[in-house]
Amino acid sequence: MSETAIREAPVDQSVEHFDVLIVGAGISGIGAAHHLLEQCPEKRFVILETYAGFGGTWLTHKYPGARSDSDLYTYGYRFKPWTGAPIAVKDEIMSYLGEVIDDENLDQYIRYQHTITAARWSGSEKRWKIEATRVDTGEQLRFSANFLWMCQGYYRHSVGHTPEWKDMDKFKGRIVHPQTWPDDLDYMGKNVVVIGSGATAATLIPAMAPDCAHITMLQRSPTFFIIGQNVNEVADMLRDLEISEEWIHEIVRRKLIADLGMLNQVALDYPEFAREELLKPIREILGDDFDIDKHFNPKYRPWQQRIAFVPDGDLFHGIKSGKASVVTDEIDSFTENGIMLKSGATLEADIIITATGFDMNVLGDIEFSVDEKPLDYAGTITYRGLMFTGVPNLVEVFGYFRASWTLRVDIIGDFVCRLLKHMDELGVSVVTPSLREEDERMTLLPWIDPEDFNPGYLQRSLDVLPKQGDKDPWRHSPNYQLEKKALPAADLDDGTLKYS
Ligand SMILES: Cc1cc2nc3c(=O)[nH]c(=O)nc-3n(C[C@H](O)[C@H](O)[C@H](O)COP(=O)(O)OP(=O)(O)OC[C@H]3O[C@@H](n4cnc5c(N)ncnc54)[C@H](O)[C@@H]3O)c2cc1C
Repeated sequence: MSETAIREAPVDQSVEHFDVLIVGAGISGIGAAHHLLEQCPEKRFVILETYAGFGGTWLTHKYPGARSDSDLYTYGYRFKPWTGAPIAVKDEIMSYLGEVIDDENLDQYIRYQHTITAARWSGSEKRWKIEATRVDTGEQLRFSANFLWMCQGYYRHSVGHTPEWKDMDKFKGRIVHPQTWPDDLDYMGKNVVVIGSGATAATLIPAMAPDCAHITMLQRSPTFFIIGQNVNEVADMLRDLEISEEWIHEIVRRKLIADLGMLNQVALDYPEFAREELLKPIREILGDDFDIDKHFNPKYRPWQQRIAFVPDGDLFHGIKSGKASVVTDEIDSFTENGIMLKSGATLEADIIITATGFDMNVLGDIEFSVDEKPLDYAGTITYRGLMFTGVPNLVEVFGYFRASWTLRVDIIGDFVCRLLKHMDELGVSVVTPSLREEDERMTLLPWIDPEDFNPGYLQRSLDVLPKQGDKDPWRHSPNYQLEKKALPAADLDDGTLKYS
């Protein structure tokens, strides 16, 4: 070997290098950092985060009553016991995440106010070259990393999804999206219309109802809800027996995961029975005279869209009390004083809240390229819903929708750490998912099967998301029961991961 060949490339001092770079300090990024510290303590890593604080979703959403819609025993990490009521408000979730950061001294790894704008893979240097902008100073910074751990979430934080309706500009009141909630919004004694009936609307309405003159949930079509008390009897019983919080966390998680698995199965096998079970408690609160079928009986099967938990039925008690109401109709146009509906009816409003969901964000809106070719993300095929063909050294965390998002954060954490250790053992520095000859002709399917799960924001974005195959490991299985066994057992040398 010539002297020139063994000489190392000159190090560019203006570029900071890390073994692993985590994008985002939301619940996924914080979880990723924990797993790296615990399982790969020798890896040097950094988290780059756009905002001035951690929390992602829980930092962004400031609307009244913002809360989880799944239980915190499973939405919390497996390594940090949850000790409160199952459904938690935003501040409680932020405290929990803050404790994880403090317990593990994670702040030293997080660079806040750093937005990544570009990520370019260099095959010759076997690393990602990252460009970032300091939000506070506008300074342009450069990083490089062997491995990218994408924890950027699934939607654009800066702005929510608001459809264009006719004559919106004629409305004289305020139009607000829950994702960009203004600090000065005064709704005391006002008439409010909330467009949408997802988890956000179901949270906002009971939280605002006591202060408004009246609040109306306007929906095009109904949504399923699960009503239950915000308690976990198993956890409470174990606490009475002075069982340790670590044990309670583990036992309650297992029980909730088993219950959820059963609920999913019943919804699949006996959809009409599941439908009736979900509607029964709503009928009990609203009574026989209320048109439940029109307003709360969706056309889709239970679990084809996420089902929001409504603690203590607060939304329905608000409707029963007359402070809130539900209207199922379509918007024709906005007027100066509210909304004209296609049925010809009108809704008077001082404030209109568009709880109409998200816009998907593809890989953090970062400009990606691989060896100077712009990345055609939609043209890739996913490896197990976490890596992508032709994209080296990159894992993306896309959590569950039917189960808690974080269950997948933990098992992907294990997978990434196992993969990094495996690469060290092999003495390689690049891993790229690639189709084997026998995979070349497999049937390609959308990222998520719309027949299985079909919320609006996913339907709107299927054309910009990767494809999945019809066989393993090219399937994206959004099913914790299957993945908790499949991911730890995944053969890293089955020929689908190419190392160099
Ligand atoms: C109101 C609300 C309630 C929810 N409740 C539940 C629930 O109860 N259970 C459940 O399972 N799921 C729930 N979800 C879904 C929720 O989004 C996920 O559970 C989870 O919070 C996603 O976490 P994340 O860290 O992957 O992404 P996010 O929370 O979206 O965080 C991503 C972070 O990455 C940063 N980032 C993105 N791009 C860049 C970039 N280019 N450069 C630097 N930083 C970047 C963002 O600033 C952000 O801080 C809820 C969602 C909402 C909106």
